[in-house]
Amino acid sequence: MYLFKRSSDLKKHLDLVRKSNKSIGFVPTMGALHNGHLSLIQAAKKENDVVVCSIFVNPTQFNDPKDFEKYPITIEEDIKKLNDASTDILFLPSVEEMYPEGLTIGKNYDFGNLETILEGKFRQGHFQGVGRIVHKLLDIVQPHKLFMGQKDLQQCLIIRKLLIIINSTVKLVICPTERESSGLAMSSRNERLSPIARKKAVAIYQALEKLKHDFGKGLYFLEGAHEAFENLKKQGFEPEYVDILTLEGDNLHHIDQPPGNHTVVAAIAAWLDGVRLIDNMVLQGSL
Ligand code: AMP
Repeated sequence: MYLFKRSSDLKKHLDLVRKSNKSIGFVPTMGALHNGHLSLIQAAKKENDVVVCSIFVNPTQFNDPKDFEKYPITIEEDIKKLNDASTDILFLPSVEEMYPEGLTIGKNYDFGNLETILEGKFRQGHFQGVGRIVHKLLDIVQPHKLFMGQKDLQQCLIIRKLLIIINSTVKLVICPTERESSGLAMSSRNERLSPIARKKAVAIYQALEKLKHDFGKGLYFLEGAHEAFENLKKQGFEPEYVDILTLEGDNLHHIDQPPGNHTVVAAIAAWLDGVRLIDNMVLQGSL
């Protein structure tokens, strides 16, 4: 595996790859890699000749500086995992490399209501930071395909919108959420849970499963979401939202009437043991 820390070196290398007519798949990450990340690498390998993974803990997407400071960094293990997964290239830039202009000046993307609901409501500025870093990374890597996880569904939709805004021809591939055997969605943040909390955290997945089951039976969805919120509270979580939404074009809307043929998703964010966990599930249709 090649390791590049400078974008100019990576660009030069990838120019040669493109000249030899090879396709490039790109998997951006913030490291502390687990099988969820590796499933994206595998998907990218299946569909491309060369796979580039980036590891960069992006400061501009952290609304909470403490969360940024506590973000797990396991670079040695990450390199080993990427090597074992036969990744072709790892891009490991510094903050100065990615933000020579400084952290505060930035573009303002118009992501519409996607930026103000769910994660956007609780993490102000988060998606502008995500848009800013993914835009920069795409300019450097210029991949044919970009691989992201459904685990961060709203992020996928934001990036789908970003690709339109910047007139990009990159194809976004949304990969399914990898889960632990308990059902808990794999996440770098799970490492910060105590063993007891990690067991308890599966309740988020179970709540989504119940919403899906009840939705299938035609039960009233808003009541279900409210009940799930209260149940999580009773179990010691501090939920931020339990929402059921329709996906209309690239926008998410809180469901307020029978959804017809629209894709319907349930999404949860809840704190447990000082760790913020998110998960989602498609209740009807596809992404
Ligand atoms: P992160 O390092 O958390 O920024 O995640 C990097 C990429 O991995 C994003 O596209 C995430 O959606 C994806 N990802 C994170 N967790 C999972 C998971 N459990 N299953 C599939 N993809 C995931």
